[in-house]
Amino acid sequence: MPRKKIETQLIHAGEPKPRIRGAVSMPIFQSATFEDNQEADYHNLGYIRLSTTPNHDALHAKLAALENGEAALVTASGMAAITTALVTHLSSGDHLLAQDCLYGGTLDFLVQDLPAMGVEVDFVDANDPASWADKVRPSTRVFYAESMTNPLLQVGDLEGIQRFARERGLISMIDSTFASPVNFRPLELGFDLVLHSATKYMNGHSDLVAGAVVGSDRLVAPIKKKLDHLGGILDPNTCFLLQRGLKTLALRMERQNANALAVARVLEDHPAVQQVNYPGLASHPQHDRAARLFHGFGGMLSFDLGLSGEETEALISGLELMTNAPSLGGIETLVTRPAASSHSGMDPADREGLGITDGLIRVSVGIEHADDLVQDLVSVLDRVSRAVTRSA
Ligand code: PLP
Repeated sequence: MPRKKIETQLIHAGEPKPRIRGAVSMPIFQSATFEDNQEADYHNLGYIRLSTTPNHDALHAKLAALENGEAALVTASGMAAITTALVTHLSSGDHLLAQDCLYGGTLDFLVQDLPAMGVEVDFVDANDPASWADKVRPSTRVFYAESMTNPLLQVGDLEGIQRFARERGLISMIDSTFASPVNFRPLELGFDLVLHSATKYMNGHSDLVAGAVVGSDRLVAPIKKKLDHLGGILDPNTCFLLQRGLKTLALRMERQNANALAVARVLEDHPAVQQVNYPGLASHPQHDRAARLFHGFGGMLSFDLGLSGEETEALISGLELMTNAPSLGGIETLVTRPAASSHSGMDPADREGLGITDGLIRVSVGIEHADDLVQDLVSVLDRVSRAVTRSA
């Protein structure tokens, strides 16, 4: 039988067969331990911290199917997935190659915590493959990337990264939170491990924190053992909520892809806007690559009016529907000013150097009607245009 489409997998993959007492929805097994534990292997015992409850089993099977991988593991947060995967496959004396524009929490872990554990880290421009070979050492073990960068929505040479890693025996890891398995399945491209903050699109309702790792049995099994020791596991109740949220992922992504494109096009045409970053626009520098790799361009975009931080905050406070809050991937539209939120810890000069100005606004586009979202934005943008005209 051909592999089922992802819309179908979201509903059916991993669901217990036969259904438990006929339950159409996966019940919550809120039990810390299970009777008759005859497992020879400690890591397989029926115990909540070992991620072996029926809720973990069902979710792991669903996530593996969605990413087209052999094995999956859920974790207490996206950061738990990322850090546990990295500390499993890196030891003191090893070297990590990483894309240079990463999620702030990951970046902090790479520059603060890994070196303290004896792991050296070098950053590379994901769009300059010619520069990578000089940075590789005999001790390099992992090449780490993201499917789209935050907040500028750059798409690195992902085909090149997985090929480069494969040719040199490195483990390629990719944080694909922004894309979700509906828009991009990195294992199918050749990546070894895919990581997610399931807090975002996978759950989609901004009401839980979770993470996921998917890949081969060979690479995921040691991460599971490390997680058993570190303890950053997902509880069964949150497993249930995440499994429920996943069922609508395809519908949500479809709407978010469409809404973000509609918003990006309006922003691009508005005279007050100087720059729009969205991989679905033909003007995006990696649009062709994104079109080749992704099934949809995603719900994230950013734009710049060339205003100061204060002026931008004033503009954001004029929005009625869009909420000024960090995080992303939920059904509601959120806006944030990265210079004051996700990237506030960076040196301002370094931040500006990357193109993250004080006035850059990031939008996580929700599933509201596109017309209403456009109307909300245009009303504040028109005010800026009128103010500029008056002062000219
Ligand atoms: N990866 C990306 C791309 C993110 O945006 C985030 C959080 O914003 C994380 C990982 C961390 O996820 P969590 O907050 O679930 O730990």
